This record gives sequence, structure tokens and C-alpha cells, in this order.
Amino acid sequence: MEIEYIYSSGHRVWSDLQGRWIFTQPCCDHNLALEEYDLTLLPQQQVKLLIMPEEVLPHETPGLQLRQLLSRSEESMFPLLSRAAQVTTWSRDHNFCPRCGDALRHHHQDLAKQCDGCGLTQYPRLSPCIITLVTRGEYCILAQGVRFTEPRFSTLAGFIEAGESAEDALAREVREEVGVEVSNIRYHCSQSWPFPHSLMLGFFADYVSGEIVPEPGEIVDARWFHYSELDEAPIPPPFTISRQLIDEFVKRCRAGD
Ligand SMILES: [Zn+2]
Repeated sequence: MEIEYIYSSGHRVWSDLQGRWIFTQPCCDHNLALEEYDLTLLPQQQVKLLIMPEEVLPHETPGLQLRQLLSRSEESMFPLLSRAAQVTTWSRDHNFCPRCGDALRHHHQDLAKQCDGCGLTQYPRLSPCIITLVTRGEYCILAQGVRFTEPRFSTLAGFIEAGESAEDALAREVREEVGVEVSNIRYHCSQSWPFPHSLMLGFFADYVSGEIVPEPGEIVDARWFHYSELDEAPIPPPFTISRQLIDEFVKRCRAGD
């Protein structure tokens, strides 16, 4: 089977002038790779990640940011690109054992690093988050976070804290961010989100009570949207799980569910 290659350096997945980031031919001398990982996800597609020193990758290409790569890639390639980005960031940030301080080295079998000093094994970190569309009949709550780089209304989201179930985290986040209570929490789908290592768990939830009160310091604005407004509203792009939740809600409303 043909092996495909993905290259990265620093914290970025490398792309050429055409915006390609996965290659069937080597683009540089693989002997110079700092690290190499097997990223294979599907049995019919064998993929290697080579983390290169920056000066080795062809310089004439400025490279695209991860968000640009994701937005231009086929949806079926999203998991692989997300995986390459997360392993690159993790590898850069995990060079020493957090327990004893010795240098970490490649695990001989797993996608991991291990410490010869104390035996600790480090796997790429994942941070589970909930993301939810709160609905009430033909209306849903969307909010604008303070960290958004452009004016955009999105679903509510937050990290699951130690000891919480996903459902507990969802009810807490919704209460904190917009001050309403929810019930009937239903799982819909999940998505790996490489900024830098989240696993987004997508849910629908039914509104129960409370007036919307945006959380100071977190939410700039939050309000109810009728499903017919969403075609024109500044909502997230199609490759995001937030958009998938919104699109599913609109589809169900149109079908009269
Ligand atoms: Zn150690």
C-alpha cells in the first residue's frame, strides 16, 4: 500500500502553495525528521506524520493556518488533519516527564512518549467539551463569546470538569453562560477540534425556565433565534459541529418535527 505523508514543524501542519497538506511523494529528506508518528486511522490509508526542523521544509510557501486548511479540506479528511495538528502540538509541548523531569522518548509501540527514569507514559492529551443547542419550539439560543475574533453567534460550549458527567457539565455551562435551566439532554454527534486538543460532544437540550442573562466577561450577547432567521444570521461555518447542530435543528423545524 502506498504511504502518504504529512509534514509539520513547530506547531503547524505544513502546506504547499496549492494548499495541499497530504502527499504521496516525499517533499524533503526524511532522514532529517525530528520525530515520526503513524497517523493511520483507516486500514486502506496508511499515513505518516514527519515533524521536521523548520529550515528543512521548502521556504517559498507561506503555509496556511489550520483553520484555513480545515475550511478548504474535504469533510472526510477532517479527522486526519485534526489528528496531525494535535499530535504536532502535543509532541512540541511534551518533551520532559511531568513526574520526574527526565527527557521523554518515543514509545516503542503506542502513539505516546515514555520516561525511562520513572516509567510514566504520556499520551496525546484530549480535553472533552460539551457543545449544545438549547431549543424551545421553533427557537434556539445562540451566543457571541468574548473571545470570538469576528461577530458571530454560536452554540454554547464549555469544558467538562473533573468528576462531572457530560450532562452535568452541559446544565452547568448553560446556567453559567446564559442563566437558563434545561432538561431532556440528547446526544447528537461529536467532533475532534484541534484548537488545541478538544473533543466536542454535541447535544440538544430543551429550555425549561429562566430569562437569558449573558455571563459577564464570557458572553457579549445571547438571544433567541427563530429557525427562519438562521439563513441570514452570522453563524459558524459548515465544517464545525456547532453548525451541524444548527443545521439539524433547522431541518427538523422545516420538516415540522
Ligand atoms: Zn519520569
